[in-house]
Amino acid sequence: MIYNFSAGPAVLPKEVLQQAAAEMLDWHGSGMSVMEMSHRGAEFMSILADAQHNLRELLAVPDNYKILFMQGGAIAQNAIVPMNLAGVKTEQPATLDYVCTGSWSVKSIKEAAKYGRVQVVADARNHPSGKFCSIPVPDSWQLSADAAYLHLCTNETIDGVEYHFVPRVNVPIVADMSSSILSRQINVADYGVIYGGAQKNIGPAGLTIVIVREDLLGHALPCCPSAFNWKTVADNDSMFNTPPTYAIYIAGLVFQWIKRQGGVAALEKINIAKAALLYDYIDGSTLYENRIQKDCRSRMNVPFFLRDESLNAAFLSAAKVLGLLQLKGHSSVGGMRASIYNAMPIEGVQALVNFMHEFQQQHSR
Ligand SMILES: *Cc1c(COP(=O)(O)O)cnc(C)c1O
Repeated sequence: MIYNFSAGPAVLPKEVLQQAAAEMLDWHGSGMSVMEMSHRGAEFMSILADAQHNLRELLAVPDNYKILFMQGGAIAQNAIVPMNLAGVKTEQPATLDYVCTGSWSVKSIKEAAKYGRVQVVADARNHPSGKFCSIPVPDSWQLSADAAYLHLCTNETIDGVEYHFVPRVNVPIVADMSSSILSRQINVADYGVIYGGAQKNIGPAGLTIVIVREDLLGHALPCCPSAFNWKTVADNDSMFNTPPTYAIYIAGLVFQWIKRQGGVAALEKINIAKAALLYDYIDGSTLYENRIQKDCRSRMNVPFFLRDESLNAAFLSAAKVLGLLQLKGHSSVGGMRASIYNAMPIEGVQALVNFMHEFQQQHSR
């Protein structure tokens, strides 16, 4: 049995891959692979409409929000967001509020500074450890008087820090949900914009999901490329340019799979149980530690360290022999990281815990 703990591109449900394999050469009797279809033909249009419809249903996206399928990933959205929203303000450069809670926030902030006056309202590195391991309490945030929006990253994939609350602010919240979308229930109306790359919890790399409130369309700065102007994309139903058709098809199969599991609420329950299993084991162990403040630990990405780091290589190679793959931590953090997205069954987390325990027994003095 193989369990893949990659942070992204990440594990997909086996059922989805099997269905894609079965339909690879001939989709539903069309005689074509989805990869070979015109994006404007009836077959692909039905795939896109179905994917959009199911995503809307899974997240209960209100009618006054558009769902866009774009390209470029979340990193492109780091520029696309300010290019589309800074123009909400008549005075330029507009003020753009950002919360800095981890490596992905840092990248978003750096990019946004090209398009507006970025105000970092809170920096989690002000923690005594100097590291990203907490979320500063919203009462301490230095919000601007007149920001175009407030940006945050709901789950810091690299650092393992996740919001378990939604801040209350007077401006639209723009959320990078790349690694937490569909892992837990959300109230879409709490946000102005939700975006994320697909390759963590949804499907293959190449597809970017954007969910945007309609009143936030139509304010793009003149410098914004047409293909990245949310209004242009929305007006053309994600067909202004050729969309990433095969990635949309796989995402659509994943949405159907989530529905068969009982929807986001059912997956959230399992995700809570999976995370508790792993964190409880780590906290009770003698060999391993997680350094993230308990109230903001990520359910999706669990970074941990061996207290004796000289055992790192032995840990990784023994894990690999057992089929527990891609556990090495991000280079900027070190140690280990287990990403346990929707498609990771609880059996995979149990297998990891069992292995960690055996490894600890073998290496305790
Ligand atoms: C993976 C990730 C990104 C980067 O996505 P790309 O597809 O490489 O652009 C950005 N933000 C978060 C939170 C991520 O997990």
